[in-house]
Order: sequence, then C-alpha cells, then structure tokens
Amino acid sequence: MNFEIARKRMVQTQLIARGVKDPRVIAAMLKVPRHIFVEEAMEAQAYSDSPLPIGDKQTISQPYMVAAMTELLELTGSEKVLEIGTGSGYQAAILALLANKVCTIERLRPLALKARKVLDSLGLLNVNLKIGDGTCGWLEEAPFDAIIVTAGAPAIPEQLVKQLKPGGRLIIPVGDQYEQTLQKITRRADGTISKEDVMGCRFVKLIGQSGWRAEE
Ligand code: SAH
Repeated sequence: MNFEIARKRMVQTQLIARGVKDPRVIAAMLKVPRHIFVEEAMEAQAYSDSPLPIGDKQTISQPYMVAAMTELLELTGSEKVLEIGTGSGYQAAILALLANKVCTIERLRPLALKARKVLDSLGLLNVNLKIGDGTCGWLEEAPFDAIIVTAGAPAIPEQLVKQLKPGGRLIIPVGDQYEQTLQKITRRADGTISKEDVMGCRFVKLIGQSGWRAEE
C-alpha cells in the first residue's frame, strides 16, 4: 500500500471534491501521515472516507470532517488554538501545521499517552497536551484565537466561549448523543456572540462537567 498515493486520492476525492478550499488546510491534509494515528491492523483503511476506531470506544474523525472543521477555524499561522478531545492526535497534528501553538486536552489517559508518542515522532513540538476535562477549557493557556471540540456536546460549554479572544472562533458539535449540528460561535470584537449552524454530524460524547455524564 502506497500511503502517499492514498493520501493524495483522499484529498482529491473526499476534500476538494466536496468543497474544501483553504490551500493551507489542503497542504496539511496532504502532509500528515494519517495511517500512523490508527492501529496497525487498521492502517489500510486509514485514508478511507469514514471515522475509524482508535480504542477505548473512541474514533478518529472522517477526513472530510477534520478538514471542514479546520477550515472553519480560519487559521493563518499565528494563532493559539485549543482542541478538546485529542483522541489519536491526528486533528492536533493538522492544527500544529496551521497555527503557532496547539493546546489539546484528552480525558482518557491511554489515548493521551499514545497520541503524545505519535505527535513526538513527527517532531510536532508546538503541541501542548494535557489529560483532563476539556469542558472547562484551559485557563492557564487562555485566551485562544480558535477552539475546536471534537466530541458531541449537549450544549455549548460557557467556559469555552469565555476563553475566546475577541474575534475568536469556536467550532463544536451540539445535539443529543445520536446526532448533532456543527456550530460556529464567534466572539465579535465588541464582545457580542454570533452563532451559525454549519452542518449535521455525528461524534462520540463529550463527557465532563459541562458535557454528558460518564456512564459506568
Ligand atoms: N480529535 C480526535 C478524535 C476525537 S474522538 C482525533 O483526531 O483522533 C473524541 C475524543 O474526545 C475521545 O478521545 C474522548 O475520550 C475525548 N473526550 C470526551 N470528552 C472529553 C472531555 N471532556 N475532555 C477531553 N476529552 C474528551
């Protein structure tokens, strides 16, 4: 299997064909080796048009969803970005190429440790990873130019909106546990908030103080 060819095909048929336009996002998706973020047995499917299991009942998002959400963050290279739900670390790696600094939070220790290793192996030194509940944001690192939540929330966590800089963007799937709407929240320069529904989506649950309750 030639991963580079698979990656090029993924970008062409899944991203560009569906309207992803930001050249920096396209370049990052061409560059990051998605197959090293999935389990070895899954490598051959790494560039397929779907989410994939990454262990602990969690998933790495579909490539199109990663690209579309990243594009909505409108990154130019100078930003400080917060990601909630590190998972495999793939989305964090894409962000690391497009922003100045990435802070990412994962609640499950085994996934966080695995992600750290893969990110280190790629030499992505601008990713700060923390184990914890991301629904409270990351006060010590706030404020952020952009925040991306890669798990489905029952409602928009207030703390995340508070940790946006003026002009900052928050991308978050909001809905019940079966389906959500991807929402883009912008904190305008004057402090007021605007909200836009982008598209339907389906993510695993955001679990925490301002998320769903953990099931036993
Ligand atoms: N962005 C990931 C995919 C995320 S799957 C990737 O690129 O692979 C969603 C992740 O969010 C899961 O790993 C889950 O454990 C994590 N998660 C759920 N609730 C969370 C919370 N409150 N804080 C941090 N991580 C959370």
